[in-house]
Amino acid sequence: MSIDPHVFVIFGATGDLTKRKLIPALFHLMQNEDIAERCHVLGTARSDWSDDKFRSVAKEALRNADFDEADIDAWCDQRLFYQSLGEDGADFEALQHRIEDIEEQFDLPQNRAFYLSLPPRTYGPTIKQLGEQGLSESDGWTRVVIEKPFGQDLESAKELNDTVHAAFREDQVFRIDHYLGKETVQNLLVFRFANAMFESLWNRDRIERVEITVSENLGVGDRASYYDSSGHVRDMLQNHITQLLSLVTMEPPAAMEGDEIRQEKVKALRAVMPPSPEDVVFGQYSEGEVGGERVPAYTDEPDVPDDSDTETFVALRLEIANWRWRGVPFYIRSGKRLDKKRTQIAVVFQRAPIALFQPGGEPCIPEEAGCSAEPNVLLITLQPNEGFDLRFEVKSPETNSGDMQLDTQHLSFSYRDAFGPIPDAYTTLLRDVITGDQTLFVRSDEVEASWRLYTPLLDADLPVHDYPAGSWGPDETFELLPSWVDGDLRDDGRR
Ligand code: NAP
Repeated sequence: MSIDPHVFVIFGATGDLTKRKLIPALFHLMQNEDIAERCHVLGTARSDWSDDKFRSVAKEALRNADFDEADIDAWCDQRLFYQSLGEDGADFEALQHRIEDIEEQFDLPQNRAFYLSLPPRTYGPTIKQLGEQGLSESDGWTRVVIEKPFGQDLESAKELNDTVHAAFREDQVFRIDHYLGKETVQNLLVFRFANAMFESLWNRDRIERVEITVSENLGVGDRASYYDSSGHVRDMLQNHITQLLSLVTMEPPAAMEGDEIRQEKVKALRAVMPPSPEDVVFGQYSEGEVGGERVPAYTDEPDVPDDSDTETFVALRLEIANWRWRGVPFYIRSGKRLDKKRTQIAVVFQRAPIALFQPGGEPCIPEEAGCSAEPNVLLITLQPNEGFDLRFEVKSPETNSGDMQLDTQHLSFSYRDAFGPIPDAYTTLLRDVITGDQTLFVRSDEVEASWRLYTPLLDADLPVHDYPAGSWGPDETFELLPSWVDGDLRDDGRR
């Protein structure tokens, strides 16, 4: 897809995301796709910065990100601009003039992307102002990119969708969930729909359960003021994890096109049954040890109130009421300050109907007590060490038919070994914004379907159980599912 000449306007240009992700992603695109002549970046925020200040911050960010020195100065000096929105953030007229000046100076058509890298409470007012200033339409294309979180619950998400749709058509709107820009997340679709071998097993007849783990070993860091008012359901479950769930469970789309894929994702989400409170565990980390270091409890972290009952962990069991998945439980666990950083999907296949290889040689039925039979497991790892592992049983050498021992082995594929470093998700997503491909962005009905599922949990005032930092969550997690798949395979130095 070709890249049109355009102005890329970043709201929140003085912030962390701009520095760490957006500027490096645009620079990467400039270097690899030769967009320098076509992409002019206009940063905006309330701070009274000049072009030079914005450029020097961007240069430092690019040097910190280890980009090649060559091109940094020239790109920043020639293609980066800054316009203040004034102290109350409302000077959209000055912004409009600045956009038009840049378009005139570089003889650009009116193609404009507005990236809202702002505090979420300002999304609505900013979008409204764009509409009122006449900036939501132009003679070329106009697109708006909205960061997560999109709403705080179903009602606020609907309200924000209404505000967005009062100014922009849905085909102009790009709601970011950066998980969708990850190479391995996109590869879920290829893995499922280009490999008939797996797709024919991908249903309730062959799959016993699916486990999704998204764990971090870090604590809340310097995000406490945002995180404490949001919690883990809003920060991770409603968006990133639900995206993984819908990609794993959706039906094949009619074509690999944006709306066809998004249609199937929404259908899958609508079939998910709202979890009942007894299928949900909330937790909050207490003091503990992570990676050999003592770490404080969540409530002792800077800027967290002593009496906070915000959940830093959630585990739940979901069921999907459709033909493909009826009766297959989906277990999800995610939290901060867990034992390891890991994003994994474990697809646990049904075991052989009779376990033939038992100590003593007597066959038994896997469901019976004392009968052991390991299931095949497909482990899809999104981080760290992106790849796939298929676990299967082999005969352990030097054991014989009367006392045959089995051993679990793996067929493994590593993304990095095969292809080298993987592009950052923001590079993929920004490229899609400027080429107008909405496939990897969340549609309005999708975001509402997800909030519909979890808002009752947020309203239910569930107990928040304690778990020591460095563990795998509260004990109640293991009442939900006694034996979670151990995904250590990719942390044990094999790759
Ligand atoms: P941040 O560092 O706090 O930056 C916020 C930016 O918004 C600043 O440039 C600030 O500049 C500007 N701003 C604040 N209030 C404003 C207002 N009323 N009108 C106009 N501009 C205003 O936040 P961030 O970490 O960059 O995050 C930005 C967004 O991305 C958030 O929605 C966040 O949830 C999302 N996000 C961030 C990350 C990340 O890694 N940082 C990851 C995923 C999603 P002034 O004070 O100069 O106006």
